[in-house]
Amino acid sequence: MLQEGRLPRAKKRFGQNFLVQPQIIARIVAAIRPVPGDQLVEIGPGPGALTKALLRLLPQLTVVELDRDMIAGLHALASPEQLQVIQADALEIDFPALAGAGNILRVVGNLPYNVATPLIFHILEQAEQVRDMHFMLQKEVVDRMVAVPGTKAYGRLSVMIQAHCAVESLFTVAPGNFFPVPKVDSAFMRLVPHRPGLLPLHLQVPFARIVATSFAQRRKTLANNLRGILSADDLRGLQIDPGCRAETLDQAAFFRLAEATAEQGK
Ligand code: SAM
Repeated sequence: MLQEGRLPRAKKRFGQNFLVQPQIIARIVAAIRPVPGDQLVEIGPGPGALTKALLRLLPQLTVVELDRDMIAGLHALASPEQLQVIQADALEIDFPALAGAGNILRVVGNLPYNVATPLIFHILEQAEQVRDMHFMLQKEVVDRMVAVPGTKAYGRLSVMIQAHCAVESLFTVAPGNFFPVPKVDSAFMRLVPHRPGLLPLHLQVPFARIVATSFAQRRKTLANNLRGILSADDLRGLQIDPGCRAETLDQAAFFRLAEATAEQGK
């Protein structure tokens, strides 16, 4: 256990639960496998438990931290040549600009899920310059991201994330590995953007729209959720049972639905 007494006071509004178990930090680093030359960005370094472990392996690292009170402590960890500290909201970072032309980023972080989920989608909009992402977040959210059709956890988040990247839950982390101790389990996950992307540009908006509408009311049949957009006959024409629920549909079926609505200009 790292010295809790030396940790800064954790702020709830920034979702601060600091990693205090060296074994977990070692597992995280082993999963990321950073090597010199990687252009790695850590989001939400906080007091720097993971940052320090990464600095042992990397001649250069960038960190993005929202909490001003953490910045001086981060600057003290390494020289400005080795550690670039950016005080900013990660949701406002222009990742391609941070990578620089022709470079590819690796993104890591232990983040509150209400930041991680929008951040993943923000990064996926600019995914051509991102090699992979490793995040620690609430286990329940990771379970939904990796869920397969026909399971309770499968929903809009699973379909949207999996359309853009390969997703893997790597290991579960119990609450006692953090300080303050959170109420829920966490999980460490890997996301690798599909290259080339599976969704052609013209289908991105129709896909997001049809997935959201299909899951609008989980208990309703697909035909009911899609009323006014696609008829039962349209669905049968796409080899989709109008009486099924969205949670039984695989990615290919959602692609067909997106294509059909795009063709109809809906
Ligand atoms: N990485 C540290 C660790 O593992 O001990 C801290 C993890 S703590 C769960 C989350 C960190 O993300 C905090 O330092 C918090 O200030 C920072 N944070 C929260 N929202 C952020 C945002 N929108 N952009 C950048 N950092 C953020």
